[in-house]
Amino acid sequence: MFETLSDRLDKVFTGLRGKGRLSDADIDATAREIRIALLEADVALPVVREFIGAVKERARGAAVSQALNPAQQIIKIVNEELVGILGGETRRIRYAKTSPTVIMLAGLQGAGKTTLAGKLGRWLKAQGHTPLLVACDLQRPNAVNQLSVVAGQAGVDVYAPQPGNGVGDPIQVARDSIEHARRSMHDVVVVDTAGRLGIDAELMAQAAGIRDAVQPDETLFVVDAMIGQDAVTTAIAFQEGVGFSGVVLTKLDGDARGGAALSVRGVTGQPIMFASTGEKLADFDVFHPERMASRILG
Ligand code: GDP
Repeated sequence: MFETLSDRLDKVFTGLRGKGRLSDADIDATAREIRIALLEADVALPVVREFIGAVKERARGAAVSQALNPAQQIIKIVNEELVGILGGETRRIRYAKTSPTVIMLAGLQGAGKTTLAGKLGRWLKAQGHTPLLVACDLQRPNAVNQLSVVAGQAGVDVYAPQPGNGVGDPIQVARDSIEHARRSMHDVVVVDTAGRLGIDAELMAQAAGIRDAVQPDETLFVVDAMIGQDAVTTAIAFQEGVGFSGVVLTKLDGDARGGAALSVRGVTGQPIMFASTGEKLADFDVFHPERMASRILG
């Protein structure tokens, strides 16, 4: 991911090397090229506008530096602005004062929620927690089984509907799971929810019902970074329909242009908290804006 954007930006910066001082016209031309590079990478237009505005303003106001030549100065500004649109600092999970902490996952079908539940389970366990994964995706025929499989791989417990135990009603399963977690001393509950292929009212209502039943400490919007501009429309729909406190980007190992990653924070105001980079449970980490910006700038 980001190869094309990295290459484009690299060319822009190369063009600046050797220049003694940047005129306003140089800055405008550079800003235009960066703008095209971002748009080609599928970054949402409002985010691009704000980014370019900030880069231009800072480049014009930048004092002549002894230590940095104009190209280095622009790279520094672009780097800092990239870190800014990626969220600045890493945002950690906010754990509840009284256990269990409830983390609800929401997103479209195929975004990678069930896989993420396993990844989070594994990660939380490594941090010394005793997570419980809860199967509230009762739409997709194999989802409950899939969650049990990833829980097994992660070595964590799973709570799934049993006959007579709210079968078919994800809201009831969600509610019961919290009580179960309390009794069985699990300190973090990860609730997997159903996603449809497109946004629909029934899905939103169900997710909102689960949210009301479990009162999550964190609701994570899980989004496939490969879906480009659609990531932004989906994010807005979930923000309005369910609300969320953080974003998880999945499939960052893909070869998409990466615009979703750069847009979702700016458009929703919510931080990217985790990143998934493959199908295996270990392909997962806390999201670090600075590292991502450095990767983009090569
Ligand atoms: P859900 O419908 O949101 O629960 O999505 P799943 O967890 O079932 O994931 C859908 C598909 O995407 C599965 O084949 C996963 O193995 C795959 N997947 C999930 N996360 C990643 C990732 O970070 N990278 C890649 N390449 N594949 C992923």
